[in-house]
Amino acid sequence: SRVYNFSAGPAVLPEEVLQEAADEMLDYRGCGMSVMEMSHRSKVYDNIIKEAEKDLRELMNIPDNYKVLFLQGGASQFFAEVPMNLMKNKKAAYIITGQWAKKAFNEAKIYGEAVAVASSEDKTYSYIPDCSDLDIPEDADYVYICENNTIYGTEMRKDPDVKQRLVCDMSSDIFSRPIDISKYDIIYAGAQKNLAPAGVTLAIVRVDALGHVDRPIPTMLNYATHIKKDSMFNTPPVLPIYAALQTLKWYKEQGGIAAMEKKDMENAAILYVEIDRNKLFRGTAAAEDRSIMNVCFVLNDAYKELEDEFSNFAAAAG
Ligand code: PMP
Repeated sequence: SRVYNFSAGPAVLPEEVLQEAADEMLDYRGCGMSVMEMSHRSKVYDNIIKEAEKDLRELMNIPDNYKVLFLQGGASQFFAEVPMNLMKNKKAAYIITGQWAKKAFNEAKIYGEAVAVASSEDKTYSYIPDCSDLDIPEDADYVYICENNTIYGTEMRKDPDVKQRLVCDMSSDIFSRPIDISKYDIIYAGAQKNLAPAGVTLAIVRVDALGHVDRPIPTMLNYATHIKKDSMFNTPPVLPIYAALQTLKWYKEQGGIAAMEKKDMENAAILYVEIDRNKLFRGTAAAEDRSIMNVCFVLNDAYKELEDEFSNFAAAAG
């Protein structure tokens, strides 16, 4: 009875993860209670969060000078937290590849000078701007990118080389390809696309990138708070973290991130081949920048009136 769910987020989770969560819902491994009900300070829960961190480090090959955090607030909260925690010279460079990057850019303006060093806004973010020779201010505290542009179906598929610190919103492409963590200073991702239900935001933070700003930072929005307390400064989103652990284990069973990339590329190719072949449809992203995570397409203008019929057909076909 389960449908093929292509929603960008909240997105499909592995059936095994949902099944395991269902099986353990009333009684987590003999504790006589659900993960939803147990103390986050209990030994049992401590094992869950520690194991999630361990699996994540292993899967993504995270070096020791990076801290893994499980936070609340969603990816949107990071739009402000990043400049709050990193803008020392009060200047940062933004590559604006979509609405989410634009929102982050606007938040940064609250804390300093946000410089748009590249943008694809001129063509409704349907392509990735050329980033080969960017005019990045020498004193920029960081360069900000959003690698996969969920709404527009474009994706930067190469770890960028910049001299400055690099901050990346990986909300919709984390775990879709192996990455070199050492190129980034902060990676963050809302969980609800590739990891767990909404409620937890994953952050991978290079510890020495912090502690350089002199502005007061509210305790909960200061990454140092959460680093010091291993994501346990306050009550963490216990159930999404538990689900994240199950998904991370599933990724490992699938053969890890490289295996996921292969599968994602195969799946995306099936869709793109059909979109390009079928005269009813057209892809909305520049072919060379197409995402393997979000395959965006519309009906060609000549067939616009078939939209409802197509939606009904797709719903009936599950
Ligand atoms: N960044 C990207 C790339 C997204 O796709 C989204 C959500 N669709 C967000 C940020 C915002 O995430 P949240 O809802 O967790 O704040």
